[in-house]
Amino acid sequence: MITIKQVSHHYTMGKKAKETTVPVLHGIDLHVEKGEIVSLVGKSGSGKSTLLHIIGGFIQPTSGQVVINGKTITGWDEGKLADFRLQHIGYIFQNFQLIPSMTAAQNIELPLILNGTAKQERKQKVAEILRQVELEAYPDHYPSELSGGQQQRVAIARALILDPPLILADEPTGSLDSDTEAELLTLIRKLNEQNGITFFLITHDQEVAAIADRQLEIKDGQMLKVKGVMPV
Ligand code: ADP
Ligand code: MG
Repeated sequence: MITIKQVSHHYTMGKKAKETTVPVLHGIDLHVEKGEIVSLVGKSGSGKSTLLHIIGGFIQPTSGQVVINGKTITGWDEGKLADFRLQHIGYIFQNFQLIPSMTAAQNIELPLILNGTAKQERKQKVAEILRQVELEAYPDHYPSELSGGQQQRVAIARALILDPPLILADEPTGSLDSDTEAELLTLIRKLNEQNGITFFLITHDQEVAAIADRQLEIKDGQMLKVKGVMPV
């Protein structure tokens, strides 16, 4: 589902004469099988989010190759990448990133609108996914009227609505209390087992890392060690 070959990345800061490079990732190799849950831990600043953005095609790596669901996305233009993301990848973020002026149902419906799905089918799909994340009682609530856990479930529903085979999550439980976190982890496991969705989870939290089939650790932009049963 994800293959990363010798990916390195540096950011460029400042202008021309005063330009400096910030090296972040150094020769990362990574392979995630379809149906796996893989977690990535590492200290703040170690390059986790950068790697996630590279996997999602938001950042082109300085060197190396990224293959997602059989497609080598390295070097693609933004339009092609946006289209690819919509069909193949769902995202979940620590701060949910819901649109505050839209209700739960409208937030979830948005990818279907971008995708050109007809209205009747949109309504049906949104109702279905609201049931799946146990939010059927809250379609008309705005994000500010929902708890953190409920907001994160809206974000998951939005990530799921186009049936992507892969979900990338950057600190998905970072803003949740421990009960809500446990509910979210149960939901992630259910989606993995029942829908076969592959998850790549960045986390600080050992409890989150522990639900993974495999745990990876990154330090100073390099992969450290592998725990778990699946081969790399
Ligand atoms: P993590 O998610 O593990 O905390 P990041 O990938 O966000 O780490 O950041 C890794 C390093 O890259 C940090 O030193 C950070 O300051 C730097 N960095 C991140 N984004 C940018 C950017 N857009 N421009 C310059 N440096 C950046
Ligand atoms: Mg980060």
